[in-house]
Amino acid sequence: MITKQKGTNDIYGDAAKKRTYINDILAALCEKYNYGYIETPVFEASELFHRSVGEETDMVQKETYDFKDRGDRSITLRPEGTAPVVRWFVENKLYGNLTDPVKVFYNMKMYRYERPQSGRMREFTQWGFECFGSSDVMSDAEVISLAYNAYRLLGLDDIVVELNSLGDKESRQNYHDALVKYFEPHIHDLCEDCQERFKKNPLRILDCKVDAESSIIKNAPKTLDYLNEESKSRYERLKELLDMMDINYIENTRLVRGLDYYNHTVFEISLNGSYALGGGGRYNGLVETLDGPETPAVGFAMGLDRCLLAMEENGVNIPINDSIDVYILSVSETEKETACYLTQELRLNGFITETDTMNKSLKSQFKSVDRFNSKYLIVLNDEELKTNKITIKDNKTKEEESININDLVDYLDMHM
Ligand code: AMP
Repeated sequence: MITKQKGTNDIYGDAAKKRTYINDILAALCEKYNYGYIETPVFEASELFHRSVGEETDMVQKETYDFKDRGDRSITLRPEGTAPVVRWFVENKLYGNLTDPVKVFYNMKMYRYERPQSGRMREFTQWGFECFGSSDVMSDAEVISLAYNAYRLLGLDDIVVELNSLGDKESRQNYHDALVKYFEPHIHDLCEDCQERFKKNPLRILDCKVDAESSIIKNAPKTLDYLNEESKSRYERLKELLDMMDINYIENTRLVRGLDYYNHTVFEISLNGSYALGGGGRYNGLVETLDGPETPAVGFAMGLDRCLLAMEENGVNIPINDSIDVYILSVSETEKETACYLTQELRLNGFITETDTMNKSLKSQFKSVDRFNSKYLIVLNDEELKTNKITIKDNKTKEEESININDLVDYLDMHM
């Protein structure tokens, strides 16, 4: 028997319904923010992620699904959405004539070769939002508000935004130098990965999960102390705007996020301070890194699987429709033909309709009515049909009414 791959899931039944519920809410919210939907290919040139995410990041070093296609090209399954969206932005030269920001959202499967555990899969779904063209702090605030409101609309009220600023290039460089100086005498007390990170990107030592509780990391210099005046006032302004929007945030000076491309704002959203539900930030240099002109941008990605877990853990009621509107029962050939016609009519008019397609006895069709929890049932009857009549029964009150077959849609519209 062939089984599913480790870290992947078949999504069906109630789980599928719950995801549809979340997807509908998020899509409607993105529309309110005037974001347009985008979908990029599942596979891309490996170079896209090596250059953007960073050659030395865990994601590129350990987590990507890389393979050679039959044309000997190096291909990578999409591990995150920002780089592909930036590739699309540059490839379509959307940077020219930017009178308004270009704002897009996606709902895409991602692939990372990770050790699977609850909330950590090899195939998972991310919702993401990207906004190109504005360097103004208002656009940082807009993306944070979109992310924040997404969780709140889904019923996760206890969320908090963890916020930090890495500042501009100069500030980030100053901070980098301070970290090198600070970590140098302690580096052998940190884990092996951190020793590597020290050589390649010391900022990422702050992301280390192994050494997270070590006093060496806890006492490391803080980004905010190395911001130049401009970066500092930008950060202060962002906090004012978040206050204006009543967004619940805390400052986390150790938040740097793993990827190389962030500057200024970085943020994560978590629930009661437990695991991260999503994260994002500003990435002004990335368009340039991917061969476009310098273009400011800011974005956020949230894990759908983890969001669903959090909703379940927090007892959020996710409405799942477990009933149908009408079941049409039929036995004879003419009854079956009428059932065919009526189901077509009802489905096109928006009613969830079922009928027997297994040539079952009337008795077992009645059992289906109960299994599907049908609100109404219609037992077709040849004699009645001769006068164009049908009998519709309310399955709850057991009341029934004989109506003209042509009045069925109107009848249901009135009664449901
Ligand atoms: P990242 O792109 O790593 O910043 O991740 C953004 C969000 O995606 C995280 O906060 C998680 O909610 C989700 N996520 C990341 N990796 C995984 C994974 N392996 N499985 C499930 N969700 C993930």
